[in-house]
Parts: sequence; structure tokens; C-alpha cells
Amino acid sequence: MIKVVKFGGSSLASAEQFKKVANIIKAEKERRYIIPSAPGKRYSADIKVTDMLYECYGLASKGKDYKQSMENIKTRYNEIISELGLDLSLENEFKIIEAGFVGRSGRDYAASRGEYLNGIVLATYLGYEFIDSAEVIFFDDYGNFDAERTNTAVAEKLSGIEYAVIPGFYGSMPNDTIKTFSRGGSDITGSIVARAIKADLYENWTDVSGVLVADPRIVDNPAVINTITYKELRELSYMGASVLHEDAIFPVRKEGIPINIRNTNAPEDEGTMIVESTSKKSEYTITGIAGKRGFTTVSIEKDMMNSELGFCRKVLEEFEKQGISIEHMPSGIDTMSVFVSQEDFVKKEQEVLAGIHRNTHPDTIDIESDIALIAIVGRGMKSTRGTAGRIFSALAHARVNVRMIDQGSSELNIIVGVDDCDFEKAIQAIYDIFVTIQL
Ligand code: ASP
Repeated sequence: MIKVVKFGGSSLASAEQFKKVANIIKAEKERRYIIPSAPGKRYSADIKVTDMLYECYGLASKGKDYKQSMENIKTRYNEIISELGLDLSLENEFKIIEAGFVGRSGRDYAASRGEYLNGIVLATYLGYEFIDSAEVIFFDDYGNFDAERTNTAVAEKLSGIEYAVIPGFYGSMPNDTIKTFSRGGSDITGSIVARAIKADLYENWTDVSGVLVADPRIVDNPAVINTITYKELRELSYMGASVLHEDAIFPVRKEGIPINIRNTNAPEDEGTMIVESTSKKSEYTITGIAGKRGFTTVSIEKDMMNSELGFCRKVLEEFEKQGISIEHMPSGIDTMSVFVSQEDFVKKEQEVLAGIHRNTHPDTIDIESDIALIAIVGRGMKSTRGTAGRIFSALAHARVNVRMIDQGSSELNIIVGVDDCDFEKAIQAIYDIFVTIQL
């Protein structure tokens, strides 16, 4: 059995955290390939090393005084090294990095050094081989991740190495410059390595004990989801739940490798298993709840709309022309409503409205803003009677007015629209009916 193990920034923010990480790794000999992030925050007002690097590079590349900023970065690493008692100096590396910054080697290069240096420190501490991701993770000329070339290179490289540290977040371009994934991208590196070596499990260690049923900023101490499918997670992530980088599921999914989200600060917790499919039922009928504020609805009414060929297309085209993506589109006999992001819509609203008027001659167009969408996601809903009933009675009891209802044909989710001001109350009410009271 082989496990690929990724540790997030807060898991490697200090020497104390490094010790926890080493204990976790050494507890199981199957934990063979380790993907570190850059040191993250030690406390809530702290600054992540990645952000320090962006800032320092900004100064150096503009010819401004960057020295203090660079010193602060060095201190973060040197503190970890000395507190761990390692016989390691990064002075040479710092010199190369500094020269690179002054020579404008790029923002991606700058940001990637956080993972690169942390990888060296962790490999030294564990006594494992260090592999520079620039040698095995590749992007093409257009900056797109080159999955197949990378897969072969990682598999080949690791075939002869039993234990290794491979830094997250970056790889190299065909011209040998460094490129990073988007923020939080070490999750993707872990997934890529897991796929390449056909790991049995991809463990992703962070600072929460798994994916939570609801946002902890809204629901006090929410339950942890035991098992979730990739599809369910995608629905929740799209609606704002953030545990794992969105793109991290694609590589492992190709090989059917499960992901286990674990908590470095509570290693005894089992965390959440993310799987392709499962016969395990969700504990609470629903798997999770997530939501987003800030939507606008544009409702169009026209007599005989239903028999007018191409009406919907003409309406939607006006949004498309202005580059506005559509979230939902519930419709009635002579009405249709289009849900869009408020932020995107306000910039182009007059163009869209004029276009709809010109091309479809509606009787009325109504606009309402400050709508929140809440997704209630669960593979168990399909086979459980009364789920929708419970949701709406909970919302009615909480005196929340439902503005829209949409159930996907996959029956994996029900989406409700409520006023922004009812957003938190609605999530709490739905959580309570399924989890707290378990009616
Ligand atoms: N260090 C990078 C970031 O802060 C990547 C990562 O942590 O996954 O976004």
C-alpha cells in the first residue's frame, strides 16, 4: 500500500507543526511521498510565506527597497531550522532567490520558492530525498498543465525512490521558467503524484477534521462529513465550501483513488473520505449545505411566451453577448427568470436589458437583487421521501421566504433562493432539521 501525503501551510507554519507532521508521517510506513505547502499562518494575523514572497518580489522587481521584506522571509525559515536543530543552511538558496528577484525572474518563480525551500527543510528533517518539482511537473507553451508528460515523468522518477519530498504548487515551462498553479495549488500537486504512482490513498492534511456539513462561520461547530463523493464535493465547492482546490480531484479521479482529508492538529480524527462512489449512506440524508450571496434575478414576462419558438435562446444570447454567465433559470408558462451574479450584471445591466427589449419584446422585465442561493447536496436524497418537504417546512418555521426552488435532474441537490438577509438563518434552519434534530 502506498500513500501520498500532502500537508497544507498551517500544518508546516512552525517547528512545532513540523514535529507533528513528522510524527504523522513516521507513524505509517505507507506514507511515502510527501507534498509540502509553504509555511502558512501561525496565528490569524500572521502572513503566509507565499504572500510575503509576492510582496518582496513586487518591491525587488520594481527596484524598490526589498531588503527588510527578504529578511523577514529568511527569518521564517531560519527559525524553523534552528528550532528543529537541523544541520542545514539555506544561505546559498537565499542568494540565488534574491538574484532572481532583482533580475525579474517572474512572480510565479517568486511564489514557488515558498514550497521549494519548505521542501528542502522537510526532506532534511525526515531524512528523505528531495525532488524539485520543476523536474517532474510540466506545463505546455500556453501555460496549461501537461498531464500526460508529467504523469510519465513522476512515475519514472519515483519508481526507484522509496521515500521522497516533492514540493507542491509549481512546475516548469518548456523554456525552463517556473510556473505555479493557482492559489492553494499544492492540493493539485498531491493529486498528480498520487495518480502517477497509482497510490492507494491520497491523504490531504489540513487544520480542520474534514469537510464540514455547513460553514462553521454560520453554524456553530458543524458535524464532519464522513464520506462524500467527488460529485457532491464539486456541488458544494461551487457554492462556496472550500477545503480542497477545485482542480485537485481530477487527477486522482482518473485512477479512482480516494482522498482522505485529515487534521494535523487532531490526527486521531478520521476526517472525510472523498470517493468516486459509495454504498455508504450519508448520516443525515443530506451530505452538506453551502451557499453564496450576491445574485440578481431578471424575470421576463410575455403572453404566449411558451409557444414562441426560440424565445429563451434570444434572452440568453443577450447575457452571453455581455459575457455574463447564467447560474439558474427557473421558468413558468409565460415567465422565465434568469439568475446571475450581481457583481457581473451591474456592469452591463443596461446593455442586457436593451438587448432583451429589442429582440424579444417582452410585456415586463423585473429585476431583483440581493438574492442568496443555497445548495442542499446529498446522494441520499434520491431515495428518501420528503426531503424537499423537510427543507421547506424548516424554512417556513424560521420565517424565511423562499424566492426560488430548483432541483437538478440528477437529484443530487436542491437549490433554494432566499433574500440575502435570510441567508444565515436559512442555512441554520436546514442544518438543524437534518443534523441537530434529525427529524
Ligand atoms: N502556498 C500556496 C498558496 O498559499 C499554495 C498552497 O498552499 O497550496 O496558495
